[in-house]
Amino acid sequence: MALSISKNVSAYFTGFGSINALKNLLEDKKINTDSYVIYTIDHYFKNNDLLTKLPVEYKDEVIYVNSNEEVTTTKINQIIKHLKDINKDKPVAIVGIGGGSSLDTAKAVSNLLTNGGLAEEYQGWDLVKVPGIFKIGIPTLSGTGAESSRTCVMTNPENGLKLGMNSNHTIFDQLILDPELTKTVPKNQYFYTGMDTYFHCIESLKGRHRHSVSDAFSEQSVTECRKVFHSKDMMADDMRNYMMTASYLGGCAIANSFVGLIHPFSAGLSVVFKTPHGLANCIAMTALEEFYPEECKEFWDMVESQQVEIPRGICKDKSEEIYQLLYNSSIIHEKPLANALGDNFKEILTYEKVKDIFQKM
Ligand code: ZN
Repeated sequence: MALSISKNVSAYFTGFGSINALKNLLEDKKINTDSYVIYTIDHYFKNNDLLTKLPVEYKDEVIYVNSNEEVTTTKINQIIKHLKDINKDKPVAIVGIGGGSSLDTAKAVSNLLTNGGLAEEYQGWDLVKVPGIFKIGIPTLSGTGAESSRTCVMTNPENGLKLGMNSNHTIFDQLILDPELTKTVPKNQYFYTGMDTYFHCIESLKGRHRHSVSDAFSEQSVTECRKVFHSKDMMADDMRNYMMTASYLGGCAIANSFVGLIHPFSAGLSVVFKTPHGLANCIAMTALEEFYPEECKEFWDMVESQQVEIPRGICKDKSEEIYQLLYNSSIIHEKPLANALGDNFKEILTYEKVKDIFQKM
């Protein structure tokens, strides 16, 4: 077996108000008077007072990322072109602020500015040759693990390939984990996204592939998730702090772990119905009780404790063509499915079985 180096984020600030550390961090980087920083910020914050807390200076460039849309290779290439056109392609740092899309955009832009070429040339494993621009990640939503993972998910609209730049160079150089920033997330979204890390970790722990450090990250992440989602109010200050930690740990686990059945079925929903990832995971879980009996029960307990809504019946009474599409876009995820059920997973997940599972959602 080929040995590969495991890397995690090397430095981070954590705790309420840690966003204030950004100013000093950037001052250390801005050694010349003409030094500047690029920000990629979730468009949700466009007219929000978070912006007034940021040390943005007139030379800096702010790029808003629409978190309702997927990160595409085309968009990343457009940002690079724009930065070159306005002579802002040599920043001293890139700061990504927001959910998964803003963080992933920061990572991709950072790597492309030093490696050259187009985003699609780096979709895959270990294709990034040199370190990117110094990158700082500031999550404002917990659960995707984008803050600590070694990838940035991008879709190539030309061929539909959804694959990130999996590389140690994609890992943020510095994080600021400030739970104050997740205070205004809508309740349902907070739950769906937070559960992403819970699902990832239980799928990984129930799978066949083992990695001792990844398992430890996953176990602790699940422990933190349980504190949050079994509590009276998952959005209380201390709970948002636990949730941020859970997401960070879950992201650390991702590099050396595989998901199982929930993510492939979730991907089917996202491809066919454009259901957002976090919500799609929750809907998929509703039909996977036979594979994850205890976890499914726990999931419903958490839904009840937090009084969130999980839409039902979204795959009922669809045409055969839709079921075929759902099947194709789920069964394609061979690695996680084999991790969950073994190499002969197709003997269990026949077309009829997969269709039956979708109909239960
Ligand atoms: Zn996920």
